[in-house]
Amino acid sequence: MEGTLASHLFLFFLIVFSHPSKSQSLQQQNQEEEDESSSIISRFQQYLQIDTSHPNPNYLASAQFILSQAKTLNLDSETVEFVPGKPLLLLKWPGKNPSLPSILLNSHTDVVAAEHSKWSHPPFSGHVDPAGNIFARGSQDMKCVGLQYLEAIRRLKRSGYEPIRTVYLSFVPDEETGGHDGAEKLAEWERFEEMNVGVVLDEGLASTNEAYRVFYAERCPWWLVIRAFGAPGHGSKLYDNSAMENLMKSIESVRRFRAAQFDMVKAGLKAEGEVISVNMAFLKAGTPAPTGFVMNLQPSEAEAGFDIRVPPSADEESLEKRIAEEWAPSSRNMTFKLGQFKQRGSLRDKFGKPELTATDSSNPWWKLLEDAVKRANGKLNKPEIFPASTDARYFRSRGLPAIGFSPMANTPILLHDHNEFLNQAEYLKGIEIYESIIKAYASYVESTGDKVPKDEL
Ligand SMILES: [Zn+2]
Repeated sequence: MEGTLASHLFLFFLIVFSHPSKSQSLQQQNQEEEDESSSIISRFQQYLQIDTSHPNPNYLASAQFILSQAKTLNLDSETVEFVPGKPLLLLKWPGKNPSLPSILLNSHTDVVAAEHSKWSHPPFSGHVDPAGNIFARGSQDMKCVGLQYLEAIRRLKRSGYEPIRTVYLSFVPDEETGGHDGAEKLAEWERFEEMNVGVVLDEGLASTNEAYRVFYAERCPWWLVIRAFGAPGHGSKLYDNSAMENLMKSIESVRRFRAAQFDMVKAGLKAEGEVISVNMAFLKAGTPAPTGFVMNLQPSEAEAGFDIRVPPSADEESLEKRIAEEWAPSSRNMTFKLGQFKQRGSLRDKFGKPELTATDSSNPWWKLLEDAVKRANGKLNKPEIFPASTDARYFRSRGLPAIGFSPMANTPILLHDHNEFLNQAEYLKGIEIYESIIKAYASYVESTGDKVPKDEL
């Protein structure tokens, strides 16, 4: 009896006295997590509030901000100005084995311009609405990723983790204007060789479903301008080979090609990034008059511009042949010019291989990424070809594996659009994903041909 009473009393004390202290510590933990989340979001807002939009990005302020973050994380930092006024920040987290190829985490600091009047919240406010959506230009493209890298490193450092490989972070200018004064210069830099980069992570796109999108290649822009020449004539006269008639034949031919490519996407046979896209960007012809154009005159010149995007798998030669023979044949008095991006072999890296990153067992970085995302309870979509261009191409053209990835699931694709936003829960989740990836990458020891033992991850 006594024993029973004692054990009842013991249970009573256990419930009354130990339970509240447990829930207190749980409360305290929740509070700490909440505090941490709100300082993470506030750092993101600070970065978003710096107006780095073209044509006058405030690169100085963004560089100062990134440097201050690097300082709190105790990362080595260096500011490189390949072009005066356009700082590129290089941060370094030295690995225990610096002889192993390093990891490069790339992000661009510039954003595209925003039409303020069309936004529901000012584009450089970082306003958080009641649903937790953070509104700002750059919230998706790609200030999120730049800071998520840093937040992931903050967490890894706090946990006591030490990388085996060196981790570099590059915060580059001018991606939105072609990357020539930023990532392109970095990839060509003589010191880039010394950095001994083994793999690059760069930006991807938001995914509207629960699985993240991931990109292994991108299409190369070919900007085509075709010009037609012909005898001028009275507007009433029917005759062959006028500049306008010849240009229209070309436009019809381009349209047929475009429709055939688009049909494959519509039928689900190919993804958007796997076909050659062609869109007319401008049409220039006519003889100006004070109130518009002269109407009774057929002009002697006409011009059309096309934005063409070519996947690395495409047959470059046959496309060039098509342009020269069907779209702008000299037999129809036409000439053509391909824009600055187009050089022969632009779809191939410096070793002559197609510019794409393998997504099979031949590329250990791919498998590591896949597993790391899974470990952090994330899902990946089938790898895709990026429909537009990113800085990743400058690294791929050196023959380096580069993966385009921005962890934004269940998010509308709003890059370059009005009211660009990212939900704060999604942003916080992305930090955990990067924590897992960076740890897996920085722990990978190639010589054993395998990952480090599971318990070290
Ligand atoms: Zn971007």
